[in-house]
Formats: sequence, structure tokens, C-alpha cells
Amino acid sequence: MDATELPLVGGHPALDLVNTVERGTPAPGGQPLDYLADPPALLRWARRVRLVDEAEAAAVTDGWERDPGSAYAALAAVRDVREALHVALLATIDRVPSDTGTIAAALERLHSRWAAAVGRSRLVLERDRATAARLAVGVTAGLLVPDRAADAAVEVLRTADLARLRRCPPDAGGCGWVFLDHSRNGSRRWCRMADCGTTAKARRLTERRRAARAPTAT
Ligand SMILES: [Zn+2]
Repeated sequence: MDATELPLVGGHPALDLVNTVERGTPAPGGQPLDYLADPPALLRWARRVRLVDEAEAAAVTDGWERDPGSAYAALAAVRDVREALHVALLATIDRVPSDTGTIAAALERLHSRWAAAVGRSRLVLERDRATAARLAVGVTAGLLVPDRAADAAVEVLRTADLARLRRCPPDAGGCGWVFLDHSRNGSRRWCRMADCGTTAKARRLTERRRAARAPTAT
């Protein structure tokens, strides 16, 4: 599976960004798989979650071809935004006890990347829309994807309904991905029922059967 087949379960591009890496407990000795393996994978993913449109993706490709170093810098910046956002989300959704220094450093990194992105943005009049103007973030082709990612990350932290933010529960067999629960009664537990929910159920059943078979300790 690569970035083009990755399930998009977050309900927000920034949450889908957090979910571009395996977040559960990694297999012993295994490295968590990163679906943003290289700059082209990053761009394919950004196109899928509509962080960039087709014309912008073409401009990014041109910019990266002219300056291949900028492509890898963009990838590193996006991964940095992703990990900083993940720390912030863990601290808020799951109240995972991270030390305050780690959380403060993550928020600082996110803020400075967002501030730089806003610094590179442009104010655009929107005469035929409901609002007068919008901030066009991502006007530099080489930095377009990381700038949009930083903007989306800060947006989700500032505007997402915390009561709807969830993490597919790793301690119950879930994968650790994050998502916005848009179900009417707010009862969505798994990022993908067909995947994580079913796997966790099957595991619980196996454990119960094993426990039933196990000889009673004497
Ligand atoms: Zn899951």
C-alpha cells in the first residue's frame, strides 16, 4: 500500500496527515511504516486530500524539479508538522501524559512553521463569495505543500470540536490513527470498523477462547 491507496479516515486533511504513518504498537523490531516515503508520494497524497489542486501540483512538480533539494526540504517540513501535531493531539484527545517540555516544543515548532507559511501568504479579494477576502497560503511552489500542511494543522487545533476528536484505541487493538467522529450520536470508536474494529473483536474472541481452554492454575 502506498500514499495513493492509504485509507483517508481523518475527516480533515491535517488528521489524515497524522495518519500517514503507522501509529499503533509497531511489530517487535519493526519500524513504523511511513506512507510519505518520498516527495512524489507526498505530492500524490496532498492531491488526494485536496491540499493542492491539479494546477498547483503541476507547479510544485516544476519547482521541485528545478530545485530537488527543496523537494526533500518540503518533505522534512511536512513530517515535522505531522509529528508536532500528533504530540499536540495526543495531549488533548487521549491526555497521554507527555512531559510538558515535549508538548511546548511541539506547539512552538507548529506555530513557527505556521507563522512562516502565513508570512508567505497573500490576501486575495473574494468579491463573489460570502466573505470579502481570504488568505491564500502557499504562494511559493516549492513550499506550497508544507505551508498548506502547517495551516491545516493549526486550523484543526483551533477549530475542531474536541468532543468529536478521537483516536482509534491502541490499548483495545486499534491502530492509533486520529479522526473526527461525525456520527450522529458520537459513538464511532474505530477509524475503520471493517478493519480495526473487526480485528479487535476477533482478537478478544481468541483471547476469551484461550482463557476458557487454559488449565486452571493450582
Ligand atoms: Zn484504526
